[in-house]
Amino acid sequence: MHNFTALTRSLLTALLSCLFLTPTNAADRDPAEKPFTVTESYQQLADAMEPLQAWQATNKAEHQAWRKQFHPTVTRILGQMPERVPLEVKWAEKKEFDTFTRHKVFIRTEASYWAPVYYFVPHKLKKKVPAIVCMHGHSGIVPYIDEGKTKADKEKTRQSELDYAVYFAKHGYITAAIVMRGWNETAGDQDRGVSHTKRSCLQMTMNALLIGSTPQGQRSWDAMRVIDFLQTQDQVDPDCIAAAGLSGGGATAMYLPVLDDRVKLTMIAGAFSTYRASYYAMPHCLCQCMPEMMRFGEMSDVVALHAPRPVLLINGIEDKIFPIEAAREGYKKLQQVYQVLDAEENIDADFFQGGHRWSNNKSLDFLKQHFGE
Ligand SMILES: [Zn+2]
Repeated sequence: MHNFTALTRSLLTALLSCLFLTPTNAADRDPAEKPFTVTESYQQLADAMEPLQAWQATNKAEHQAWRKQFHPTVTRILGQMPERVPLEVKWAEKKEFDTFTRHKVFIRTEASYWAPVYYFVPHKLKKKVPAIVCMHGHSGIVPYIDEGKTKADKEKTRQSELDYAVYFAKHGYITAAIVMRGWNETAGDQDRGVSHTKRSCLQMTMNALLIGSTPQGQRSWDAMRVIDFLQTQDQVDPDCIAAAGLSGGGATAMYLPVLDDRVKLTMIAGAFSTYRASYYAMPHCLCQCMPEMMRFGEMSDVVALHAPRPVLLINGIEDKIFPIEAAREGYKKLQQVYQVLDAEENIDADFFQGGHRWSNNKSLDFLKQHFGE
């Protein structure tokens, strides 16, 4: 009887520790024999964590009530925004291509910063057209505007379809490809171990966090000022502004519409998954770290703040750094969000065969569907 009770108790304990994933081994294990790593420690912390403001509405009123809670959380996490200064634009360069003109402009986004922007305007526009703010990832602006110098660079642009700003301009859209803050001519201290592009993510993250801001908050702010500029342009339809980004730029495309309602449609590529399965689980650039975010919600919750505005999620199913299973789960949740808001047609996914790159499988149709021909 005694043995049976002891056995039952130990079985129960084992079962409970599995169920609740409590770090029972932390008590049982001799740390001198097998030291505890931060990896297992953080994993257990995350396992025990339920996001405090995850979306779980069942009707529109509950959605609005949830939004009222979570929206201020995300804007707070994105950090202090710069002081708004009057819009100033310096037109620096103009280059003619077969179907569009490419300008380079500098837009003053705050007192101490001018964002360089490649501004693409298709020839012979007969009416106002939608404009797309395009945001690049960690390779910097060069491959994204197809200005790579070597054959290998050009091949990378083509294979990964990085030149979506050019592609959309060729298809009649006005596009603005921002040199994201911390890259190329805006770089300061070069990131250690990075040689393929000029980049200062580490310096930027350290400085931004110390002054109460975040790289994603500041990059979103620049994009907002670019939208200010776009809305002054005669050929831009001010009610049809879209955002598009890949990787780090895809993450900005995820945060920007939270801050700016003028973004009416968003294409997020190579960035949507879960914090837990991507940034938390493997090495990523520090600039993507959103302090505290996992305490409150997941990426699907952030994108739920866009709803009911149209969102296209673009993910290569072989993208190792934004695992597809987590992306699929997030997409499923977003379908519920849009269903509750009677806007199911506004959420779509292009989960294609391929790796960490852009895809135009659905982009043009998605734009036409929501902005018209
Ligand atoms: Zn970075």
